[in-house]
Order: sequence, then structure tokens, then C-alpha cells
Amino acid sequence: MKNPSEKTVLYPGSFDPLTLGHLDLIRRAARIFDRVYVGVLVNPHKKSLFSVDERVIMIHRITKDIPQVEVVSFSGLLVDFCRQLGISHILRGLRDSGDFEAEIKVAQGLTVLEPGLDTVFLGTDLRYAFLSSSMVREVAAGGGDVSVFLPEGLAPLVAEKYRELSKADQ
Ligand code: ADP
Repeated sequence: MKNPSEKTVLYPGSFDPLTLGHLDLIRRAARIFDRVYVGVLVNPHKKSLFSVDERVIMIHRITKDIPQVEVVSFSGLLVDFCRQLGISHILRGLRDSGDFEAEIKVAQGLTVLEPGLDTVFLGTDLRYAFLSSSMVREVAAGGGDVSVFLPEGLAPLVAEKYRELSKADQ
């Protein structure tokens, strides 16, 4: 359980897989907050490439040099999870106006559900403004090299997943 004077933030997402854009946001959040929970959302209705456990292990490995980071998975209501852990802020990334339009409404809804739970937005680094997990999956599914989009060591895992999937299809 956290110390009540700590400034904490939850960065929720699918992270399927974690990209350099996500990692940049995590590093910048760790300069602002005492503790950054990276929360992999368990969504049984969404088909994912990596299992929740695989994503948690991957993110943990990639962020092990950032002491403020804790990697967790969660299901159910975000506000309940934040209340349980005493988390006071949500972090979301903004790549463009499309992200803003979707995210501002969610943020406003969250403060109605849980007054005091504030969403903090960080604008994407220009190098990663185009980057999304779904784009990485599309390129990798077509056999492309995705190592320029991902933290070190993740591209071979993504390629391996697609090899397994194509074997299972045969
Ligand atoms: P979700 O399924 O919640 O959209 P994602 O894993 O796609 O989960 O993204 C999680 C968060 O990271 C979102 O706030 C999203 O806007 C942000 N994000 C995704 N890609 C980038 C990027 N390239 N640069 C900055 N933020 C990003």
C-alpha cells in the first residue's frame, strides 16, 4: 500500500504491445510522480495478441530501470481500482485531436464518478506521434520489421507470435 503523501498515477491501456511512444510517456511520468502504476487492462471482449500476463512481464522487464514504476493488471471499473490502491491521478497520452476528443470526455466522466481523481495528459513526443500498437500489429502481421517502433527485445517476441498464429492457421 502506498504512503499517503506519495503522488501516484495510473497509466492504463492495452499495451498490446508496449511501444516506444508508451515507454516515453512512462519515463516522463516518472519525473513528475512518485509512483507510476502501468495498468494492463483485462478486457475479455477484445482479442489480444499477447495475454495479459505476457504483457505485464514484458512491461516489467522493459521498465525495470525506472524505480517509480509498478506494473499491474486490472479488470472492472477504473475508479474502483484507483480507490483500492489510493491512486489520485490517471495518465493518458495525446497524439492528435482524435485522442483529445475521445480522452477529454472519459476524463470528465471519471471526475463525475470519482471527484478528486484527475486525469493528466502528456502530449506525445513528435518522434512517436504516428505510432500505435495497432499499427505495429498490422506491420508485423504482414511480415514487416517492427524493431524501430518497439523497446529493445520486443520485436522478436511479436514476430514469434505471428509465426505461431500462422502455424495455427495451417
Ligand atoms: P487503449 O486501448 O487504452 O487506447 P493503448 O495501449 O492503445 O490503450 O494506449 C494507452 C495510452 O497510451 C493512451 O492514452 C494512448 O493515447 C497513449 N498512447 C498510445 N500510443 C502513444 C504514442 N505513440 N505516444 C503517446 N501516447 C500514446
